[in-house]
Amino acid sequence: MFKAGKILIDRQQLAARIAELGEEISRDYAGKQLTTVGILRGAVLFLADLLRELNISVTVDFMAVSSYGAATKSSGVVRILKDLDDPITGRHVLVVEDIVDTGLTIDYLRRILSDRSPASLKVCTLLNKQSRRVIDVDVEYIGFDIEDRFVVGYGLDFQQLYRNLPHIAYIDGEV
Ligand code: 5GP
Repeated sequence: MFKAGKILIDRQQLAARIAELGEEISRDYAGKQLTTVGILRGAVLFLADLLRELNISVTVDFMAVSSYGAATKSSGVVRILKDLDDPITGRHVLVVEDIVDTGLTIDYLRRILSDRSPASLKVCTLLNKQSRRVIDVDVEYIGFDIEDRFVVGYGLDFQQLYRNLPHIAYIDGEV
C-alpha cells in the first residue's frame, strides 16, 4: 500500500470509533426508519462502514455539492451537483459527511434540507476541524476532532487522489 504523508488515524482506530457511532445512532433512532444522506464523494467510505454498524431500518441516498470557489465561499453559497433521488418529507434524515471545516457546506445543506420538511435532521461527520469554523453549525455526531491540518485518505482526496487509503493521513505539502 502506498502512503501519503503520516498516519493520523489508522484503520483500527477508524473501525473502533465507527462501531461506537453506529451503536449510538442505532440507539437514538431505535424504532424509527432512518434516511442516510451521503455527501459525495468524500463520505462514501465512511458511509459504507457506518451503514454496516447500524442495526435499524435504514435507507441510503446521496447528494453532491461543490462550493462556487473562493469569492463566494464566505457567503456560504454552495452548488448542488447531484440532488437526492427521493423526497425526505416526513423522514428522519441523517447527513453523513467526511469533514466539517468552515461549516459553510453543512450550514447550507441543513438549510436546504430542512426546507423540505423532514421529521428530523441531524449531521454525522467523521472528522471535525473546530478551529476552522466561520459559522456556528450543529453537528450531532462527530467521529474525531482534529487540528487544522489538511488530511487525505479514507474517502478524502487531494486532487482526487488518495481516497483509497484505508487510514487518515496528513500531507503538509509533501505529497
Ligand atoms: P466546509 O464547508 O466545512 O469548509 O467544507 C467541508 C469540505 O471541505 C469537506 O467536505 C471537504 O471536501 C473539504 N475539506 C476541508 N478540510 C479538508 C481536509 O483537510 N482534507 C480534504 N481532503 N478535504 C477537506
